Amino acid sequence: MQLNNYIGGSWQKAGGADYTAVLNPANGEVLAQVRLSTTEDVSLAVKAAKEAQKKWALVPAPKRADFLYEIGRLMKEKKEHLSQVLTKEMGKVIEEARGEVQEGIDMALYMAGEGRRMFGETVPSELQDKFAMSVRAPIGVVGLITPWNFPIAIATWKSFPAIVAGNTFVWKPATETPMMAYELALIFEEAGLPSGVANIVFGAGSVVGTAMIEHPDVRVISFTGSTETGRHVAETGGRHLKKVSLEMGGKNAVIVMDDADIDLAVEGILWSAFGTAGQRCTACSRVIVHKDVKEELERKLMESMKDLTIGNGLDESVKIGPVINKKALEKIDSYVEIGKKEGAKLLVGGNVLTEGKFTNGHYYEPTVFTDVKWDSRLAQEEIFGPVVSLIEVSSLDEAIEVNNSVKFGLSSSIFSRDVNKVFRAQRDLDTGIVYVNAGTTGAEIHLPFGGTKGTGNGHRDSGVAALDVFTEWKSIYVDFSGKLQRAQIDN
Ligand code: NAD
Repeated sequence: MQLNNYIGGSWQKAGGADYTAVLNPANGEVLAQVRLSTTEDVSLAVKAAKEAQKKWALVPAPKRADFLYEIGRLMKEKKEHLSQVLTKEMGKVIEEARGEVQEGIDMALYMAGEGRRMFGETVPSELQDKFAMSVRAPIGVVGLITPWNFPIAIATWKSFPAIVAGNTFVWKPATETPMMAYELALIFEEAGLPSGVANIVFGAGSVVGTAMIEHPDVRVISFTGSTETGRHVAETGGRHLKKVSLEMGGKNAVIVMDDADIDLAVEGILWSAFGTAGQRCTACSRVIVHKDVKEELERKLMESMKDLTIGNGLDESVKIGPVINKKALEKIDSYVEIGKKEGAKLLVGGNVLTEGKFTNGHYYEPTVFTDVKWDSRLAQEEIFGPVVSLIEVSSLDEAIEVNNSVKFGLSSSIFSRDVNKVFRAQRDLDTGIVYVNAGTTGAEIHLPFGGTKGTGNGHRDSGVAALDVFTEWKSIYVDFSGKLQRAQIDN
């Protein structure tokens, strides 16, 4: 299978000479070949998007929304197929893949609803016989750059608000996961989305991503990926005065207080630390535990980890799938070595799995370190794999301080039965998302998604907040007095 770009409603061969293979991380199977695009391909896509946007902006928002209802319906109809492709391409276990596709369906229906809301404001004018209001206006062509770990959900977080608001887009999916983009393009086509509203260009970030950011007709860049790449995107976008929305890395923590339900905390940690093999931006990478319950938590965590079956995510009984590729595997393993050198105590795991059914895949054992120093590299840097570090604290204040000590600020969680502690924590934890008595993952699409500090630059995906990225506020004054009225002077 060869994947081509989707530009102006047709499938077009990329101009580059090189191909890249899409590999199943569970077993190395070649799933597809993708021809890499050039700067010229990006120009073609932007041209098609720009042309289409003029008409698209004039389609009433409730009519634009009808396409999203149809896209949502088709995604629902194809949910199992999409989930199977997602697991094959990205590796996450099938139950989670179904959850991710559901997130896309939810986003389609939610954003379709925005087609009949998209509220502005009407306010009284300070002058007689004058009307004042603000409306959300589409921006134009927007550029979307997405990572491989949520190849369909993140695409929907960005593209659906963009199109309901009257923009058209050029999307560069992650090189590792083009098949989900291809599947979504087929759905756009089947839903009858007008040509040029959705455009997909496959290829390397350094070529396609950079060309999108530098193109004068791309007005917004919405990026999700690592903090390193995001910094580059922001720098380049800044030079071109682009509106740049960044969702980047995390180093999320679960706080377990001495009054917590420890069994529940263990369940929350297992799900958020090892789900998606730890490759979620919101994955729990640190457990900040009160000294009085540390031993109990360690014991119960070790006990529960025995049930974590590792393997190909298409097997319904498997709980932990592979990590995305060899490079990721090596990075995870290097952090385990760093942890050991830093004096952290390895409780369980710490190995690449290579034998038997793991031979051709990229599998890492779920790994737990304890007695980790809060300021060590293991506790400060994003690993993006199934590795969790236990850090001991003596009070809620100390727990919050440790939580906030990292350069990221995406998600945090506290397990406690004390309402006073919970409310202090939700106020003082410096993250964009806070969970109480649940792990660090599990965002719902109708709330803003994003983080503080090194995780973001003040924008949010998802929720109504996403519309802020893809619209400009326009203030409109209508004077029906029939004479010149000067604000601040004639009243
Ligand atoms: P990445 O930064 O390597 O790549 C992200 C995207 O940027 C890809 O499409 C890639 O091709 C593109 N890219 C690479 N170099 C580029 C360049 N020079 N110019 C423009 N684009 C370029 O990230 P990844 O490995 O795909 O994803 C994992 C990272 O994403 C983790 O750090 C994770 O925390 C983060 N993430 C964040 C969120 C969030 O919402 N905060 C969600 C998911 C993942």
